[in-house]
Amino acid sequence: MERIKMINPVVEMDGDEMTRILWAMIKDKLILPFVDLKSEYYDLGLLHRNETRDQVTVDAANATKKYGVAVKCATITPNKQRMEEYPQLTEMWKSPNGTIRSILDGTVFRTPICIDAIKPVVKNWKKPITIARHAYGDVYKSVDFVTEKPGTCTMTFKSEDGSEEKTVTVQKTDGPTVWQGAHNKDKSIRSFARACFQYAVDTRQDLWFSTKDTISKRYDHTFKDIFADIYEGEYREKFEQNGITYFYTLIDDAVARVIRSKGGFIWACKNYDGDVMSDMVSTAFGSLAMMTSVLVSPEGNYEYEAAHGTVTQHYYRHLKGEQVSTNPMATLFAWTGALAKRGELDGLPELAAFAGKLERAAIDTIESGVMTGDLVGLWEGEAPAQKAREPERPKRELVPRGQQKDRFTDDELAILAAAAKSALTADEIVERTQIPAKRILSAITMLQVQGAVEERPGRRFYALVELEG
Ligand code: NAP
Ligand code: MG
Repeated sequence: MERIKMINPVVEMDGDEMTRILWAMIKDKLILPFVDLKSEYYDLGLLHRNETRDQVTVDAANATKKYGVAVKCATITPNKQRMEEYPQLTEMWKSPNGTIRSILDGTVFRTPICIDAIKPVVKNWKKPITIARHAYGDVYKSVDFVTEKPGTCTMTFKSEDGSEEKTVTVQKTDGPTVWQGAHNKDKSIRSFARACFQYAVDTRQDLWFSTKDTISKRYDHTFKDIFADIYEGEYREKFEQNGITYFYTLIDDAVARVIRSKGGFIWACKNYDGDVMSDMVSTAFGSLAMMTSVLVSPEGNYEYEAAHGTVTQHYYRHLKGEQVSTNPMATLFAWTGALAKRGELDGLPELAAFAGKLERAAIDTIESGVMTGDLVGLWEGEAPAQKAREPERPKRELVPRGQQKDRFTDDELAILAAAAKSALTADEIVERTQIPAKRILSAITMLQVQGAVEERPGRRFYALVELEG
């Protein structure tokens, strides 16, 4: 088969632990057979970052500026415990994502991957909701302190050249008090706004923006005004051409509307709001393992990644030779996102089409009943709150029968269970039961994921539990 040719490379940032293993599998099995991949490779694995004194992260971010499209694997951000785990580390290197974000100066967009068989907790959500989080300032770059005595706190600004000076009274207080000073820069808010408007145009989705401008009359109002200026000056026409709208509302009103909406829009949030709301939205849609993330810079550079980390616990079990079930979807979609963007920027529709087909195939696979363990509990709409974390999940528990009904009949499952008890191959099961091979395979996979059936040498399947029926 002729592999799809590329013109410009994607910047490839490899990472750590379980996601590094998924990374290689995705490339080898799903991309390289079909695409003559051009990538500029940067190894952001922790030890290589250490060897290069983290220069490799800076180089990868600069390459992203040069080529415009990057795909990143999850990476370890070292902490005290990691310093003990990796004694060769010479420094507690900073978060690569933080370094890349500060070089690209971007906005992070997080979008859930939706599967028909996994219903969002909010029933009326039919399409993904993308959270666009401003990633600079506010409480994340604030100063705070406590005082004990009655007194007055003031806040003063002095310009470097002495021409501007302002002092306000924050509060006169009668006892122990806690204080905080926060800021944001017009420049950063402007690039946040541009990234949001541009992403809305690129993805043809409405853009919502919300703050608390009625209470925060200067601070939040500045955000509202900057968004309004940029919309009127640079984007109104593009929005109208694309049939999309920009909608500003108070954050409390936005929360109520989001819950009642059908989804299918971008919700731009200030830093703290985005931090909190993205966790709410991702949980309500299903699983962190099904959440993609892209950093978009104001210059139009794109860095795609999974929203989750390196899945350390799975990696440790993998190293011990245990079987793990790690969901590759978000990492796969990081790759397809980058390839589709590369195709779009370079005028390679076949590359973009390939990315779309690969996404579709991955979704179809899950919808056919083949999925990783994290999704089993969510399948057919069970609430994520009931999701058992893998180590705690009773390995041999079956999905309640009622939930299997639409996919496999009780009779089919009973026949399959009886057949599996005799450690037959899939072909033998097909022959004896007359159930089509495709259904048998996806039923077996489902039972394997649930830990009810195990594969034995010679591709023989063996039931580990007494299955009902
Ligand atoms: P994590 O890697 O996201 O994993 C937390 C838990 O979520 C896992 O133990 C697993 O739960 C579940 N999970 C996450 N992704 C999954 C997947 N693809 N398939 C199945 N289950 C999945 O977060 P963490 O354990 O807090 O962090 C691990 C390392 O990742 C840390 O060193 C951190 O610095 C790094 N990190 C990197 C990034 C990034 O590069 N963007 C982001 C966050 C964290 P069960 O164990 O219950 O199955
Ligand atoms: Mg958060």
